[in-house]
Amino acid sequence: MSSDDASTLDRSKADRPLPKPGILDIHAYVPGKATAKGFAEPVKLSANENPLGSSAKAHAAYESAERSLHVYPDPRATIIREAIARKYRLEPERLIFGCGSDEVFALLNQTFLEPGDNMVQGEYGFAAFAIGAWACQAEVRRAKEPNFRIDVDELLKCVDDRTRLLFLANPGNPTGTWIPFSEVRRLHDALPPHVVLVLDGAYSEFCDDAGFDDGLDLARTSTNVVVTHTFSKLHGLAALRIGWGYAPLEIAQAVDRIRLPFNTSIAAQRAAVAALDDEDFQKATLDLMATWRPWLTQQIGGLGLDVIGPSAANFVLVGFPKTPGKTAADADAFLASRGLLVRGVGNYGLPDHIRITVGLEPHNRALVEALSDFMGR
Ligand SMILES: *Cc1c(COP(=O)(O)O)cnc(C)c1O
Repeated sequence: MSSDDASTLDRSKADRPLPKPGILDIHAYVPGKATAKGFAEPVKLSANENPLGSSAKAHAAYESAERSLHVYPDPRATIIREAIARKYRLEPERLIFGCGSDEVFALLNQTFLEPGDNMVQGEYGFAAFAIGAWACQAEVRRAKEPNFRIDVDELLKCVDDRTRLLFLANPGNPTGTWIPFSEVRRLHDALPPHVVLVLDGAYSEFCDDAGFDDGLDLARTSTNVVVTHTFSKLHGLAALRIGWGYAPLEIAQAVDRIRLPFNTSIAAQRAAVAALDDEDFQKATLDLMATWRPWLTQQIGGLGLDVIGPSAANFVLVGFPKTPGKTAADADAFLASRGLLVRGVGNYGLPDHIRITVGLEPHNRALVEALSDFMGR
């Protein structure tokens, strides 16, 4: 049944339980492909995972949790709370932990949105933001991103009395583009104080430009800024599902009232502490990006394809022609036939683009070779 039916029906008169209005309009999150026909171990460049895996110290910490399978985790996640507070010089009680930063977004949505409210994001904004807002029966407003880049004035045009949250991933996914901190500050200065500005720093470590800042300093002294980070990308712990947010104390305490008590596992808490400490592993990941992101950008651009950016994340977004046989969908299928999995982003309103995670050297070379064959067919 369509959601129109659901919203006009009196649910108390229905012959079966009906989801609340809006739920059936939501498209479930589309994950990156993980299988390719004919390949036992395809090269997965579809989910922005860390091609180096994760820190050996994180592996050891994870294994140590094996003896604690029968024990509930610490609901306050104290070990990782203290480790992050120390490393970033933050007040521990202002930290929020979640089953990935995804859960932090969902908790913020649940805490602030009621039906009739709205959430603002960029037109290509990360899908998880909007899914959580729709689940609260809120409106999602998408601000234009000219040239695939967040535009502060466009965001501000969407804000009104019923805006409760503004989500900004910087750098963005799937665009990979970013805005300088001066623009983030301008956005914050112009926002009414009742709006929570959520700065999603999932890819922030990959941006080394002097004009960039993840916003933690702004959050320290603001009553309406939340900065989120994840262990899924730089630290390569996507499987363990752990992320965090740094919020004003009042917001952290409000979120804590509805948070599932045991939302991060013992293994995740321990591995995250170890990963945070392993700066060699983090550096190796950043070095890999420093070498291969520009290489991929230049090589793919050299094939006549449109590489959006420059990307400041661990992936590149590539535009394809509309010519039959040469489209993004054709490229996606062709690469899969070579055992190379990339991410179609049609669900982001970008049917002519694919997103490619920066991989290890042999993966990147195989990718470029395959794309070259594809374009030369
Ligand atoms: C990958 C990603 C995250 C991190 O999600 P987790 O739930 O922490 O794994 C957050 N925001 C964006 C934009 C992402 O692409």
